[in-house]
Amino acid sequence: MADGLNAEEVKAAYKAILEHQSVQQALEFIQEDHGNTVAEQIAITEIPAPPFKERQRAEDFQRRLQELGLENVEMDSEGNVYGIRRGSGQGPKIFVSAHLDTVFPEGTDTKVRKEGGILYAPGIGDDTRGLAELLAVVRTLNRANIETVGDIVFGGTVGEEGAGDLRGVKAFFAEHEDIDGFLSLDGPGFDHITYLGTGSFRYTVTYRGPGGHSFGDFGSPSAAHALGRAIAAIADLETPKEPKTTFSVGEVKGGTSVNAIAQEASMTVDLRSNDSAALEKLDKQFLAIVQKAAEAENEKWKDSRITVDIKRFGNRPPASQSADAPIVRIACAAVEAIGGTPALGAPSSTDANHPMSLGIPAVTIGLGGTFGGAHTLEEWHNPADGHLGIQKSLMTILGLVGVKNTSPALLK
Ligand SMILES: [Zn+2]
Repeated sequence: MADGLNAEEVKAAYKAILEHQSVQQALEFIQEDHGNTVAEQIAITEIPAPPFKERQRAEDFQRRLQELGLENVEMDSEGNVYGIRRGSGQGPKIFVSAHLDTVFPEGTDTKVRKEGGILYAPGIGDDTRGLAELLAVVRTLNRANIETVGDIVFGGTVGEEGAGDLRGVKAFFAEHEDIDGFLSLDGPGFDHITYLGTGSFRYTVTYRGPGGHSFGDFGSPSAAHALGRAIAAIADLETPKEPKTTFSVGEVKGGTSVNAIAQEASMTVDLRSNDSAALEKLDKQFLAIVQKAAEAENEKWKDSRITVDIKRFGNRPPASQSADAPIVRIACAAVEAIGGTPALGAPSSTDANHPMSLGIPAVTIGLGGTFGGAHTLEEWHNPADGHLGIQKSLMTILGLVGVKNTSPALLK
């Protein structure tokens, strides 16, 4: 095969891994360790991590990584925390992460409520379950005394959600050029693998003008009317179904009163695509529309006082890799190794977008248990059978970096 990884090689590696006595012990330990994983999940959920204010949770997570004996545990200047578990040498180096931030603002009550085995709290699943599963993987590697070939950096990233714009993972890869592969533990479904990234641009567009009395100053250009022209034209944009490409005016604000010509009017806009050329094309059309709307409003009143201010506050690159890429096939084999059927998911927007866009093999792999209400105050997680997520992550990691004297690193 062109990528140098054939199906036989993957099969042989997983056979050897599964037959390894320490790995068998590890898989059993993960089930016995269920209570510890859930306890950590609850404890971490109760430390709030609002966007851009993840520090308290990051410090706690840093301590947990240290207690697990990782080397060089540190917090970087962006606020990510990570440490390394070294292999026997000559292997690849991967970064295994979950995200520290939640979508919930400061002051949100994150106390966990338990009802019939189900855990309720904002952030209990996304991505606190990922953080707890990551810690469980490290605990398991230690307990079963598994020596890998490659090095594994384990850590928590900041800024995955919304306006965070992947700032954590972007900073990490700017500072670490020696990473050969990336796993994000995030999202529901232990059998779920996300290997394509949706890209997005986000904007705030603000029109400003002279304002005035609606009757007395009639004839002055209006910021609200300029905004309306822009929205009408955006609404008429045509985008392809495949690759899926979308646009949305999310919020609209402006004006001072019913009898005033609006001095200011603004909108936020979200543009997305699974393909970078399609996103770039949509972006150009959008930028032309918002400029033209200001010109048209000025033109109408033979004026020049309407201005437009365009701020891009989100930039996530679309990213794609083949479903045959080694990291995707290894992740699939790991799901099969624990008796599951891999589910290759539709493109989405996760921490893996960034390394993927750099050409670094990267996937986001799902978590154990069942989930609901993500990004709402009613978020819940049922940790029953949650061990499957942790077992799958362990198997993915061991396939990628190899097990000393047992199987080679499949990630080159
Ligand atoms: Zn998430």
